[in-house]
Amino acid sequence: MKAHTTPKRAILLVRISDDKAEEARGVGRQEADGRRKAADLGWTIAEVITENDTSAFKRRRVHLPDGSTALRTIRPGFRSALDKLSSGARDGLIADDLDRVARDPRDLEDLIDVVEQQNVPAIATTGSMRLDNDAGVTMARIMCSIANKSSRDTSRRVARKHMELAEEGKPGGGGFRGYGFTRSGMDVIAQEAGVIRWMAERILDPRDPWTLNRIAADLERRGVPSATGAKWSGRSVRSIVTKPSVAGLRTHKGEVVGPAVWSAILDRHTWEQVCAVLAGRAGNTDLTLKRWLTGALWCSLCGHPLTGWQGNHGPRYWCATPLDGCGKIAVKAGRAESEVSLRIVVLLTRQDILKRLTAIATTNVTEDVRHELAEDEAQLKQLAGMWARKELSFAEYREARTIIEERLKESRALVQSSAPRVLRSLLAGDVHKGWEKLPPAGKREVVLTLLPDGYEVGPHDRSRGNVFDPGRIRPRITLVA
Ligand SMILES: [Zn+2]
Repeated sequence: MKAHTTPKRAILLVRISDDKAEEARGVGRQEADGRRKAADLGWTIAEVITENDTSAFKRRRVHLPDGSTALRTIRPGFRSALDKLSSGARDGLIADDLDRVARDPRDLEDLIDVVEQQNVPAIATTGSMRLDNDAGVTMARIMCSIANKSSRDTSRRVARKHMELAEEGKPGGGGFRGYGFTRSGMDVIAQEAGVIRWMAERILDPRDPWTLNRIAADLERRGVPSATGAKWSGRSVRSIVTKPSVAGLRTHKGEVVGPAVWSAILDRHTWEQVCAVLAGRAGNTDLTLKRWLTGALWCSLCGHPLTGWQGNHGPRYWCATPLDGCGKIAVKAGRAESEVSLRIVVLLTRQDILKRLTAIATTNVTEDVRHELAEDEAQLKQLAGMWARKELSFAEYREARTIIEERLKESRALVQSSAPRVLRSLLAGDVHKGWEKLPPAGKREVVLTLLPDGYEVGPHDRSRGNVFDPGRIRPRITLVA
């Protein structure tokens, strides 16, 4: 790269973000810092472009030049800055934090193209990225690929790891000790188990069913210690006695996924009766709250995920206002679940889909992770070399290293993990029966394997009356194939 001339008509790009850490650096502050940086460098700022980046992670479907469509993050401010730099109308770019601006590797490559073709510099006010020399460009590529590389995949893999532990019936780890069990969650504490059985008996007593508050008061009166030492309450009694772990069941994301490896304190039937009695008393709010399409349905109006919700008219998936949704989209949970179920069953008749699933199911995840581990380790060495050759500052080196090491930690944990169990069990026999038999969390996993971006739910057309229109549920992207 040739030495560039000092920019006389530079762009200062500032960003409005909903990221809490960035929010603190308001637009005014970013502009002041950018101008100070420009003054230090002798640059002249000709234009400030404000990028509204509050939807940085909400990708939209865009049409590509080749006629296909793809999901891309839309950044009009960044794009207009690129246009102006490539037309020569502007001759430099200062941004608050370039590695965030160019979070998407495709965006970064576009920026690098412009920087190299037009020989204009792009630098950051804060952060480490600067595109004004070859080492800076190399570093930027590494930083961007590090920050982006399979970050989605990684979080999915971590989720899958938890899922697998859940299916093996092992405790998920972390959190507080559940009443009745040792901290590891594997062993029953006899005395506490006795208290839980007594609770169930009181609740199910046909002649004199106790209220939860009466049970709590009695425990307090007798000085029975709780797991945390806190006072007993109706709420804590309910939480203990309705927990699936008490019946020897393992849950994942609030849903029962199968038998646990620990032993049950209440037999399944008794526990179900207790839950049913308590659910009846409380207006049926307890057990149906979590739905398997949670995480797979999205609001067509605001792009927010829909959440399983217990309303006055039964369970729904709702763009819940208490969770910052717009509140405008809701669909009956049963309708949505049977519709998606139907579609998945149809998909499962397609040979190409089955082939794809089989490939995923038999791919040794561990091998993939091993491969990633090796790549990351190589990248660490490469970084160290760059630092040794003084192509990087120590701060840059440390920043990059931290990101890689974080991922290495995740990968190493995952090397222990096994292949996608849900898919294997689905494909082991008749897929339709297999699908029906999948636990809720397993169904979600299959849906998200087939359609990683899930479905979008459109508004209800009131002119059609109360009839459910399956057309309201549309895939957000095309199938993985
Ligand atoms: Zn919404």
